Amino acid sequence: MIFFPFVFEDEILYSAMARYHWISGNINPRASMLDMFGSPNVCSTVLFPANLKAFCERLPLTHKLMPDEIIDNHTFLPYYELSVPYERIIKIKNIMTHERGTSIYMSLGIAASGIKKGGLLKYCPICAHADSMKYGESYWHRSHQAEGVVACYKHECFLIESSVKLNQRHKFEMITLNNYIKSLGTINKDERKCSAKELFLAQQSHDLLNMKSRVFGLESIRKYYIDKLQELDIVTTAGRVRWMDLISRFTYFYGKEFLLRIDSYIAPGIEDTWLHKLLRFPRVTCHPLRHILVLGFLKENVFSLAASLTHGKQKNVRNQYKKIIKPTNTSAQLKPKLLRIDWEKRDKAIASKIALIAEEIKNTGPRLIRVTKTEIGRQLRMQSLLVRAIHKLPLTSKALNESVESLEQFQIRRIRRTVKRLIERQPIVLPWEVKRAAGLRKAFELKYDELIKEEIQKQVKQSEI
Ligand SMILES: [Zn+2]
Repeated sequence: MIFFPFVFEDEILYSAMARYHWISGNINPRASMLDMFGSPNVCSTVLFPANLKAFCERLPLTHKLMPDEIIDNHTFLPYYELSVPYERIIKIKNIMTHERGTSIYMSLGIAASGIKKGGLLKYCPICAHADSMKYGESYWHRSHQAEGVVACYKHECFLIESSVKLNQRHKFEMITLNNYIKSLGTINKDERKCSAKELFLAQQSHDLLNMKSRVFGLESIRKYYIDKLQELDIVTTAGRVRWMDLISRFTYFYGKEFLLRIDSYIAPGIEDTWLHKLLRFPRVTCHPLRHILVLGFLKENVFSLAASLTHGKQKNVRNQYKKIIKPTNTSAQLKPKLLRIDWEKRDKAIASKIALIAEEIKNTGPRLIRVTKTEIGRQLRMQSLLVRAIHKLPLTSKALNESVESLEQFQIRRIRRTVKRLIERQPIVLPWEVKRAAGLRKAFELKYDELIKEEIQKQVKQSEI
């Protein structure tokens, strides 16, 4: 190849290949495959390209890309490193580097996981616009393609599904996002903001793809989950899982509809679900999306998991070290080094939990709780840290400010909920009943007069539909 376009940050290789195809002027994609791989018949799925060594050898000298780098930054393999046994990852890396790639999905074991494969490439309309302003063209982002992800991790808006298929075994097409959008004429933006849970899945998938190390061992991860569940009293001290309790709390936390949409709902009473397998037999491959769900339920995330497991490993190494060295030797260098806190990482980890916690506070009942910094800190069990070290946690501080409720917001939420409850119970609801049931103080009654009347009308209408 005399040229190949620059591969952008968070771009899937397929996207850069499509841009090459477009610039090259080749009409048949097979001709471009021949340029790029030296063979027109390389089986290249969109998320798992293969034959990367041949590809790198054919790149112009100005490109210094290596297969490992491409796999890490521009394919979907890193997403699976958390949940697929390490030997299998190595095997797949090998296929992607040297072979023409046929059975990568099968090797991942994801086909059997019960989560439907995404099917179509997705894009964020705001990213597409921003990229074309910044780089002169838009491209297919990697973070947007994870299964179950419907939101942009950066812009918190909904992604748009294209008609470009992820599995192109039968008919290979190379379509750039630029050309795809042009062919549509206009972008139909979805103006709704996504929910905190949808955003959590999007951000965690992005973080998982971009983490430095993701190989912790499936058994260590299982132990980590069990420890955390023990803290919640869902696992007994003897190690027995209270399944009924776990499943009902898990379902309550995410909501049945949400779980059904991502093929992860667990019907009560069934003993052989993905959650059972995850906590009993970690070697049975579990989809990364489900790890993310469990982490969210535990109020953890991929960074806190990584921090905890690598920290654990360091402790083990230190213990081994101590055993080897005779106890009489007490020179200063043998003392375990104090672990330096990586505030940036910590900040990111805490900040990513906050919107989810705020949402949860709003949804727990029956008593209504105002979303305040103290309450969020209490739920995170980090009250003092959030006071003492808040100046070291800029992202957390920002997330807190965005999530807390003003007194007014809280009162409005309380009025809405009170109206809803009363309407469920009685045929006619009067404003004074709402005021009394909501426990509004006299000073505020007047302020919300209009709102209460409107809310009654609105909700009555809704309940009639
Ligand atoms: Zn975006």
